[in-house]
Amino acid sequence: MLLVKALEDKILSEGSVLPGNVLKVNGFLNHRLDVPFIMEMGKEIARLFEGCGVNKILTIETSGIPIAFAAAQEMSLPVIFAKKHKSKNLSDDVYSVEIESFTHGNTYTAVVDKAFLNEGDNILIVDDFLAIGNAVKGLIKMIESAKATTAGVAVAIEKGFQNGGDALRQKGIRVEALALVDSMDDSSVTFRK
Ligand code: 5GP
Repeated sequence: MLLVKALEDKILSEGSVLPGNVLKVNGFLNHRLDVPFIMEMGKEIARLFEGCGVNKILTIETSGIPIAFAAAQEMSLPVIFAKKHKSKNLSDDVYSVEIESFTHGNTYTAVVDKAFLNEGDNILIVDDFLAIGNAVKGLIKMIESAKATTAGVAVAIEKGFQNGGDALRQKGIRVEALALVDSMDDSSVTFRK
């Protein structure tokens, strides 16, 4: 797949590995956005989930939003993003979950207005990274609370050695990663084939 190879090459040439198993890709995904490239990732996610009857995309702020947006544009679907801070312009009627953050080492509350997740929805979860899987598990909990179904999970980068993706697959959830990192250290990144 051309896009997968292009993403792997971009990770190798522009990414760096930080202590604590963090892959830094600020140059195109987490700080500066490479818009044409993100749109291509969206197209690939749309291709993978074509014909699956998805009617909404769910992500979590901040870095999931651009990829979810790109996939949604291609699939002609709305995006709902879970908010990490309960702002004043949100109703009290929210789905709320506690999520332990891998990168920040803290626990935060993510909320989605109940008006935006409905019984019978078939929802595709999209995020930038999948590591231990806490963020995705939190989003799945909200989907279950709404009596909706999870069509699958699509992420730009999965760190396979942290097992979050495989744990979800074992539960029967379809998980697609555009790039799947098998191992990494400060001098190399290896992808699962
Ligand atoms: P999980 O909940 O699966 O452990 O972690 C997923 C979330 O943590 C993602 O939404 C992402 O924001 C962040 N994250 C996890 N690992 C990495 C990483 O290696 N690099 C970056 N930039 N973010 C990560």
